[in-house]
This record gives sequence, C-alpha cells and structure tokens, in this order.
Amino acid sequence: MTTTTPDSGTKTTPAPTLRVVVIGGGIGGLALAAGLRRTGVDVVVHDRDVDPSVTGGYHITLDTPAQQALRGLLEPELYERLLASASAVRRRPTDVWFDWRGRLLGDLEVGGLDPDSIDVDRITLRLLLAEAAGDSLVLGSTCTAVDREPGPAGQVRATFTDGSTAHGDLLVGADGPHSLVVRHLAGNPTSRPAGIIGISGRTSAADLDPDETARLGPRSSLTVGPRGTALYTGYLDPDGFAVIDAPHARAAVTTGPTYIWGAMFSEATAPEGLRDQHGTQLRETTLEALRATGWGEKPLQVIARTAAETVAAYRFNVGPQHPREMAPWPAGSITALGDAVHATPPTAGKGAGTAIIDAHQLVTELVAVRAGTQTLHTAVSAFETDMRHRGSAVIALSMTTVNRSLAGASPAASAITRASMPLLAWRTALRQKDAHGSRR
Ligand SMILES: Cc1cc2nc3c(=O)[nH]c(=O)nc-3n(C[C@H](O)[C@H](O)[C@H](O)COP(=O)(O)OP(=O)(O)OC[C@H]3O[C@@H](n4cnc5c(N)ncnc54)[C@H](O)[C@@H]3O)c2cc1C
Repeated sequence: MTTTTPDSGTKTTPAPTLRVVVIGGGIGGLALAAGLRRTGVDVVVHDRDVDPSVTGGYHITLDTPAQQALRGLLEPELYERLLASASAVRRRPTDVWFDWRGRLLGDLEVGGLDPDSIDVDRITLRLLLAEAAGDSLVLGSTCTAVDREPGPAGQVRATFTDGSTAHGDLLVGADGPHSLVVRHLAGNPTSRPAGIIGISGRTSAADLDPDETARLGPRSSLTVGPRGTALYTGYLDPDGFAVIDAPHARAAVTTGPTYIWGAMFSEATAPEGLRDQHGTQLRETTLEALRATGWGEKPLQVIARTAAETVAAYRFNVGPQHPREMAPWPAGSITALGDAVHATPPTAGKGAGTAIIDAHQLVTELVAVRAGTQTLHTAVSAFETDMRHRGSAVIALSMTTVNRSLAGASPAASAITRASMPLLAWRTALRQKDAHGSRR
C-alpha cells in the first residue's frame, strides 16, 4: 500500500493496523481525519451536523504554526486551495482602535498577532477539511456514550443515538467545549463560561456608506465602549489581499471586501435572552443594547447593514488555565483535542489553529505507533503533554482581552472609559492634523 507521511513525500508502508474513531468533525476532528487518511491510518469521524457548511459565518485567523500543521495534514492541491481562498494579514494596513462614537484612538497593538497570519472563512476551511476527510466522515451521527470494552485487549467503543456503535484502538474526542468524551475522561466538564457573550455577522463593504467605508478602511479594528462593550471588525478580502496568486483555486465564501464583526457584552450586562435570538431580532437587540450604553450611530452602521441571516450569538467558553488541570486523566486509549480540552475564547484568534496543531501532533505520534517505533500509550502520553502546554498558553493569551473587557464592565471602569477616551481621541486627531500639516 502506498501512503504519505504528514510532512514528507510518498513511501511504502504496511497495511494499516490501527483504527481511530473521532467524535466531532469540526476544525480539529476533520484536520485529524485528513492527516490520518493521508498517512493510511484507518479513521472514521462522526459529527452530529448534517451539513458541514452550516457552521459559524465568521473568519478564522491561522498563524504560521497552524499553517505549517495544515500543510502537513493536507494534500498539496487542497492546501493550495486553502491559501488561494485566504486573505493575507500582512497586506492590509495596521489595525486601529476607535471609541464608541467612532473616533480614531490610534494603532492597535494585537498581542500575539503573527504578521504572516492568514484569514479564511470558517465555512471554507471546514468544507476543505471535510473534502480531505472524504468518506471517513459520517454526518448526522450524534455520539451518546464512549467506553472501553472489557478485557485487557478491549477496544474502545462509541455509541450513537440510533443505537449503532463504532469500534477502534483509539478514540479521540474532538467534540468542542461541552465535550461528552472529556466528561467521560475527567468525570466532569473541564471548561466554563468565560463571562462574555459574542454576536457576530458579516457585512459587505459595498453595503456601507462611502464615509463609513473610508473611516473603517481596508483594515481590522476594535471599537471600545462603556460597560465593557466592544466591537471587533475584521477585514477580509481574499481577492484584493490574496495570499497566493491562484484565482482558479479560490474556494472562498467571501467574494468581495467584507467586514466580519463581533460585538461583545459581559454576561452580567448583556440583554436577557440574547443567546436564544437569531437573525433580525438578534441584530436589532444588539443595536439597541449598544445604543443604550451610549454608542453613536457611526460605528453601529456595520451591524445595522449586516445580512440578518449571518448574525449569530456565542457564549465564550474557557478551559483550565494551568497545564496541570488540563486533560487531568492518565493517558490511555481514549483522548481528546481542540476546544474539548482547551476551550479558547476567540479574543486571540488561536482556538482553531491550536486544534489543528493538536491534530498534526497526534498524527505524527500515531505514525510512529504504526511504524512500530512506539506504543499507543507512549504516543498518547507525549501528545497530551505537549497539548497541555500549548493549550494553556493560548488560553492565557485569549483571557487577557476577556479580563480587560470584564474589568471594563464595572460602573467605575465605565466612568473612566467615558472620561478618558474622548481625550485620547482628541490627542490622536491633533497629532494627525500636525502630521498632515508638516507633510504639506
Ligand atoms: C466568533 C468566533 C471567532 C473565532 N475566530 C477564531 C480565529 O480567528 N482563529 C482561531 O484559531 N479560532 C477562532 N475561533 C475559535 C474556533 O472556532 C474554535 O477554537 C475551533 O472551532 C475549535 O475546533 P474544535 O474542532 O475543537 O471544535 P469545533 O470546531 O467546535 O467542533 C466540534 C464538533 O463536534 C461536534 N459534536 C459535538 N458534540 C458531538 C457529539 N456528541 N456527537 C457528534 N458530534 C459532536 C460538533 O457538531 C462540532 O462540529 C473563533 C470562535 C468564534 C465563536
């Protein structure tokens, strides 16, 4: 049988003797299935969704390590399609921040931002990964239980809502923040709500007034307001800011300059029932809630002009922040990866990338098991040790913004925001005027 290793070329390997069952075909589970398939390991991935394109409409930022992992997991042709569908962060102007009236406050220093990152539609990424997973992906398949069959050589078993079962040598939970697999392993959920509700949507730049397009510019921005409210506006343009010049390979859902926005409220101050709302109702409630804290109409235009069907609400979840508390179970034939282990708020744009790196790491370890150079137990143990450190570092980074936002929700912090931001905006305007004057 001819197969390929994750990072190198073609080689001859014996027929697979390792069977892996993956629960969850989101970003991490599909990346794992893609990589295992490429190496010739027998894999099946079950997801409760019936259509992989029905997923968050926002974009995913992938830093250099995440891109390298994907390069190792995907066939070159699919990886090229991914790059051809992405927007290069390096090609757009520096991110900026604004106050809640839309006044410029200056350049935004984004902690941990890798300038070689790329932005890709989550839908596009999931569809390409689903294509790579091929017929190993079983859709509409909800797992209800996992266990080990009795006996020393007992296989692992997953049971589904229709009563069917899947068996393997290794079971991997890639089933997101409320992971059933992690509950089985740890005895309880290991992630918790981070205290923030996010609402996201997509707005074509062409749907904004020219003044507003000029103010926002072809760049991403963060607008901050009182009571811990904030609005991140990501700029996506896979044509104008293409990563590679390969329009024939482009599979992006985003076809023209688009702002992908995410509004944030602390759970304590968020409007009641926000998470149960959808579409027009959710968009209008979001606008009303921001107006109620004093937001001006200018920065709200990107929300007001958004297509209602793209608006969705999310609760930010967070996993354990210390490596010691992460994956607190002995290594064995059931493990987990991605948000199931290290649920990561989107504030650092690293959760999906970390799930992809987990997948690559596990594939690398399992290739050694199949080659007979290490045991399954050693492979899982090495994978989990590495994941604990990477996962907790990314959680710490993403919680910096979450904690800042939660601190800003108090009445005292709100008063400081209201008093200080206009001064900062005034100083920025003055500096811009000076710079403009000295250029003439
Ligand atoms: C608004 C927003 C913006 C984000 N932006 C970024 C970004 O820019 N960069 C970045 O790296 N990350 C970002 N993230 C985070 C990223 O989306 C997650 O970290 C990532 O999806 C985690 O991947 P995962 O495979 O672990 O989980 P998921 O992608 O959530 O997949 C879990 C899958 O498991 C399935 N499942 C769950 N339970 C079962 C079951 N019992 N049986 C069968 N299937 C099941 C679900 O249907 C789902 O498909 C963002 C998140 C949000 C909400």
